[in-house]
Amino acid sequence: MIPTPSLKALPKDIILKLACTKATPLSLKQMFTIGRHVLECKDRKALLIPAQFLHAELPIRLSQSVKMINSDEIPCGMGSLPSFRRITNRILEDISVLTQMQRPDTVTQEEEFTASLRILLQRHRNNILSVGQGFKELLDITGKKSTDFCGEEFQNFFDKFYTMNLSTRLLIGEHLSLHDEGHNLVQRVSPLAVAEKAAQDAKYIFKKHYGHEAPEIKIWSRKKNVHTLHVQENLHRTIFEVLKNSLRATYEFHHKRNEKLPPVKLIMADGDEDVTFKVSDQGGGIPTSEMPRIWSYVHSFSHTCPDVQLKEDISHYMELPLYGFGHGLPFARLTARYFGGDLSVLSMEGYGTDTYIHLFREDSCPENLPKVGQVNEEFEDFVHQLDASNHVCDGDLEDIDRYPEVKVI
Ligand code: ATP
Ligand code: MG
Repeated sequence: MIPTPSLKALPKDIILKLACTKATPLSLKQMFTIGRHVLECKDRKALLIPAQFLHAELPIRLSQSVKMINSDEIPCGMGSLPSFRRITNRILEDISVLTQMQRPDTVTQEEEFTASLRILLQRHRNNILSVGQGFKELLDITGKKSTDFCGEEFQNFFDKFYTMNLSTRLLIGEHLSLHDEGHNLVQRVSPLAVAEKAAQDAKYIFKKHYGHEAPEIKIWSRKKNVHTLHVQENLHRTIFEVLKNSLRATYEFHHKRNEKLPPVKLIMADGDEDVTFKVSDQGGGIPTSEMPRIWSYVHSFSHTCPDVQLKEDISHYMELPLYGFGHGLPFARLTARYFGGDLSVLSMEGYGTDTYIHLFREDSCPENLPKVGQVNEEFEDFVHQLDASNHVCDGDLEDIDRYPEVKVI
């Protein structure tokens, strides 16, 4: 049974201990090997190995996220904004549920544990939308413009926070995929095939948005038969975000001039160390002074962010609009960096933009987890206050992603 979340079962020394414990980063190779083993065993008991790892590992990663939000690491005291309090409460509930559950030692316990992971995954997706609402609250409260929040301090913090969020979603996603679908998320993928699918999807979203046929995407690679170990969905999203931007820029730049839309070019090159994509468009480029802002998570929030409410329950990035969150590029870059790759943008204002996506082929490269600071006095004070109140603030949580109200047995 999934326990009713209660912070009574989450004493302060447990949170402090978890927040001090080092996370265990996995490599693509390790994830792939564990997954293969589970699938080849054809025995549900094999799922106990990844389930037991998650049972120990997730509370550590989650506690580190709570620590990031509730210490001086977070800029502008954003941790006390209603949306960030909501995120803190949600994560504390998650930790509470996980730590109250027994380590899964039987097939039934693994089923129960996996049921709680399904809810946890949805709550983690909602945390990303809550961050967006937090940015809006920040702009409202301070009366400042989004461009005032493009500094390095902001970038570093949200790169770390979102990377931790990505790591949790990846670990849970991999387990659910093994459990429900009978396949690994980490697979030997054809990057070219993934790029072709991303191109098709980006053109589809474009047409849905503008009601106009998308510019052509010309894909070229010297070799067709290239394979590398990767998470297909992450690679798809990275290329998809870059292509969406290129299609949009091409349309916006040429359509108003009544010009024919030039194609977007995607070249794939494979080397011993890297597989690299170069996406080139003639969408008019980005002025040099604007370049730092393209990596900002807060940029464009005040004027273009679509009003997507939590109630809409966005469960996949393909359901999001063509543009408007201002998260596409920074997200794509942290996803590319997650297993040792990178993403960079070079632009010629007045002509167009080249975006490079590098995948690192060394599959023993561990997850690029953020370095979280030491537990400090500020975080200890936060935990101490929690311990005194002993409960999650009910009014701060939405109903859509609650754990079912069942008693611990
Ligand atoms: P979303 O998060 O929904 O993708 P977005 O497209 O506004 O919203 P990003 O993808 O992060 O956000 O891009 C940030 C900004 O960088 C864009 O709003 C756009 O101004 C600029 N940009 C990105 N790629 C290009 C490009 N190829 N050509 C011109 N401008 C670009
Ligand atoms: Mg975008």
